[in-house]
Amino acid sequence: MSTPESQLSILFDDPGRSALLSDIDGTLCRIVDRPENAKVPDKAKESLEILSRKLGLVACVTGRPALVGRQMVGVDGVTYFGNHGLELLRPGDDRPELHLDPEQLGRAARFIAEHDSPMWVEAKIRLEDKGPIQALHWRGAGPRTEALVHQIADHAIAADLTAHWGRKVLELRPPDMEGKAGAVEALLAVNGFETVVFAGDDKTDLEAVRRLQEMRDKGQIPRLLVVAVGSAEGPEELFERADVLVTESDDWIELISGLAARDA
Ligand SMILES: [Mg+2]
Repeated sequence: MSTPESQLSILFDDPGRSALLSDIDGTLCRIVDRPENAKVPDKAKESLEILSRKLGLVACVTGRPALVGRQMVGVDGVTYFGNHGLELLRPGDDRPELHLDPEQLGRAARFIAEHDSPMWVEAKIRLEDKGPIQALHWRGAGPRTEALVHQIADHAIAADLTAHWGRKVLELRPPDMEGKAGAVEALLAVNGFETVVFAGDDKTDLEAVRRLQEMRDKGQIPRLLVVAVGSAEGPEELFERADVLVTESDDWIELISGLAARDA
């Protein structure tokens, strides 16, 4: 049976027409209680730096704002598609390009401003302002907090926002967002990529994987390899769809570092 290392090496068959796409949190770094403390290991940064020079495209597709993604990974040659497909930051750009109707930009933030209450702080809900997306984190809090978060989600849906659930995080998004599915499609729309490797760990990545596999089935991506970082919190369907399943972010970093060390 072929090893994950040898499966990934398809990226080097025609490196200029190969794309490596990776999520950040839970995939290039471990999930921590406070998202601001998450740290991408140096080994991952160094590997992505090398690969960004060798491959046609290396992109981080993340729920973080694009500029935060670039700060975390710290590699200028990488493209960052942030905020789940809302912000595209290409190498050398100072500011991300927005992929959203301007009318929808402030909708989630207005909802938070109108509904935020001291009860949220008592329940240990932590707010993350991601511009068009507002995230409520409750890692470390109990079932009562989770029940409260579900109530907030119901109100948000009634206010015409979309509720998106991740690993101990609720994201309130503007309606009609395509999420990471739209991001991967936009990234691959140009250049005629032959080979695509995508890695992720969570529900938002599942959207991207579904879209990528549709594109493969239509013949738009000749070769696709999906890598999933397994966890008890991640969606089963992602793990079922994956070609390679690893147990933690360090395993994925190990794979890309092996790839970066190869001659190509
Ligand atoms: Mg993730």
